[in-house]
Order: sequence, then C-alpha cells, then structure tokens
Amino acid sequence: MKILVVEDEPVLRDGLVELLSGAGHSVEAVSDGLSATRWGLETSFDLVLLDLMLPKLDGLEVCQRLRKARPALPILMLTARGSEEDKVRGLRTGADDYVTKPFGAKELLARVEALGRRAKAAPAGPDVAETDDCHFDFGRCEARRGKQITALTPREVGLLRWLHRHRARTVSRAELLEQVWGARADMETRTVDMTVANLRQKIERDPANPRIVVSVKGVGYAWGKR
Ligand code: CA
Repeated sequence: MKILVVEDEPVLRDGLVELLSGAGHSVEAVSDGLSATRWGLETSFDLVLLDLMLPKLDGLEVCQRLRKARPALPILMLTARGSEEDKVRGLRTGADDYVTKPFGAKELLARVEALGRRAKAAPAGPDVAETDDCHFDFGRCEARRGKQITALTPREVGLLRWLHRHRARTVSRAELLEQVWGARADMETRTVDMTVANLRQKIERDPANPRIVVSVKGVGYAWGKR
C-alpha cells in the first residue's frame, strides 16, 4: 500500500516509517496538518495514518478536509491514551479507526492491513442497495435521497453493506465490530453505537426514528424497518 504518515514527533514518525516500510509498504511522511492536507489531496494514497495533535492544522480538521475530497480514503487516527473524547471526535469527523498511543508495532500493522484490505475488497456485481427511498451506491461511498447526495465514509459503507447483506436477521454489535472493524469481540461496542448515531444523522429522514439502521433492543442492529 501507499501510505501517508502524519506525525509531528520525529522519533515516532521515523519509527512508523521504518515499521511500515519494513512491512513492504511505500511510505511518505509529513509533520504538520497543512502539509498533510496538501499531500493527501495531491497524491493518491491507499491509507492515511493521522496524528490528532498537529502543528498548523489539527488532525480533526485534516481528516474533515481529506474526507470531503476523498470519501473512500481509509484514515487511521492516532490518539492520546485515555482520551475518550478524542476518539469520539475522530470517528465523527470521518476517521475509520483509531489507535491509542502508546501502541505496539504488531497492533498498528494489523489495523493498517485490516483497513487496507477492507477498502480494497470490491464485491462482484453492482454494489448498491435501496430502502426507505434512500439509494446507496457503496462503491462510490454515496447515499442519495431525491436530489440530495451524501458522502459516506468507508466504515459507514462497511456497516451498511454488512447489515444489507444479512438483512434477513439482526446483527449483534460484537459481530459488526469483528466484521466491519476487524476488531476482537471484546473491543468497546460503544464504537458501533457512535458510528450508527453519526450515520443516522446523515441518511435517516428522522434520526430519532430510524427506518434504515434499526435498533433491535438487547440484540443489535438490523437493516430496514420491519
Ligand atoms: Ca502530535
């Protein structure tokens, strides 16, 4: 994969470049938010590894700008230890996943590769769905209602695609975490709820009464109102 590393701490940045290059990836590294935005928009990367606290322009702003121009670009955010609020904000601005510092080399590589694999796995046949007058083009990371088109993140597309594919049943949070996030089932299931809440704001007519991503009490989520 071609990876952009955005990290202002030189030791960590060099470590990340070495780790990812060693795993066979082609890596570019920058140390501030403005360069990150410029590089991210000018060059076509397969994945961006983005630190949250950056000089010139913070990681959230960079994430928003990249996401707007490149809806399908996988973004993995690096957050400080224990900062729950950072994780929530990161996922809200469109990061696909986060890794908390300090992290192990193995964990980071696993996350990078899982995210890249999911982004590349293009399904056979038309990758579309429709419900409640909302049309989804998963391949283009788009939802359309009437004339209004909304960009979706790869994570949101992954979640919708999984629910749609298994629409005959209810899907548990643990299953979504495992299948869409590539995480172990004991990772926080609240991550799923946060993504769903954000997604509903984008695609549901009335996010308080969802008809597309429906909650099934005590079980998880299901595709479409029964
Ligand atoms: Ca930093």
